[in-house]
Amino acid sequence: MIEVSNLTKYYGDIKALSDVSFNVNDGEVVGLLGPNGAGKSTTIKILTGYLQPDDGVVKIDNLDVLTHTREIQTRIGYLPENAPLYPELTVQTYLRMIADLREIPREAQQARLSEAIYATGLADRLTQPIAQLSKGFRQRVGLAQAILHQPKLLILDEPTIGLDPTQIVEIRHLIQRLARNSTILFSSHILSEVEAVCDRVIIIMNGELKADAKLDELSTSSDAILILQEETAGVNQALQALSGVSAIEPLRSTDGHPGYRVTAQSDVDLCPSIYDLARRSDWPVRELRRDVRTLESVFNQLATAE
Ligand code: ADP
Ligand code: MG
Repeated sequence: MIEVSNLTKYYGDIKALSDVSFNVNDGEVVGLLGPNGAGKSTTIKILTGYLQPDDGVVKIDNLDVLTHTREIQTRIGYLPENAPLYPELTVQTYLRMIADLREIPREAQQARLSEAIYATGLADRLTQPIAQLSKGFRQRVGLAQAILHQPKLLILDEPTIGLDPTQIVEIRHLIQRLARNSTILFSSHILSEVEAVCDRVIIIMNGELKADAKLDELSTSSDAILILQEETAGVNQALQALSGVSAIEPLRSTDGHPGYRVTAQSDVDLCPSIYDLARRSDWPVRELRRDVRTLESVFNQLATAE
């Protein structure tokens, strides 16, 4: 659905994006995760045709965004980082105006408006001028305009920024509901948010793509953890000799037992061969498992490596 190839973008001398490539498949919910200034909004503006890259190509539904800008903009739902709302208009008037702009046929407008208003919980704010709304409600108006024409693809730039915890949970549920019928790419600098909603996460830092993986792939490392009942001679050497092993690091379990972290040369699960070796060698195995990392630890590892 989205194909991003080798995007590079400069603002004057600042390199905001450097050779960024990724895809988003039909039906996926993908989180674009990165700290402030990472290049998320820049990426999203290029994807939606509101900013031109210095290099690289974006295709949406196989159409080049640079040459089919209008067409693509009508197909997608986009929540920009600063939604251009009209402060003097009431919520209702604003959404009607958007419905006209999107050329939603008059006879379909009422139903679409009701759905969007219901989905974003705006029913009791319809006659209020946008200027009087809290940040959270303005964000909902932004979301309502993004989903009004029932786009198959939603691109949301930090949809929960500035919201309080209750509102964040509500928006999260809304994204989950919308995900049943749409492909969604949304950016965030909040790990837990991405973790809660996404199938896949793309991490960018300093304008560079650092990771692109399903959540469970990211959180499963290729390290195996072997914990023994007590110190056992020859274990280290035997593990070294095991095929596919690249490094071994001694460790202690939280309850004080000796063990090893065994790192694989490639992304293979070493546990079956370690299990086999341990059984043959009669080691007093207490625990053998693949290491599970949290998204937070992955993110922090990447951030410290920067
Ligand atoms: P994010 O959305 O991840 O916070 P941005 O894409 O907004 O990051 O910004 C990426 C980098 O580009 C930052 O260093 C930011 O300061 C810079 N930048 C963004 N917009 C502009 C602009 N209009 N002019 C100059 N620099 C910009
Ligand atoms: Mg941003």
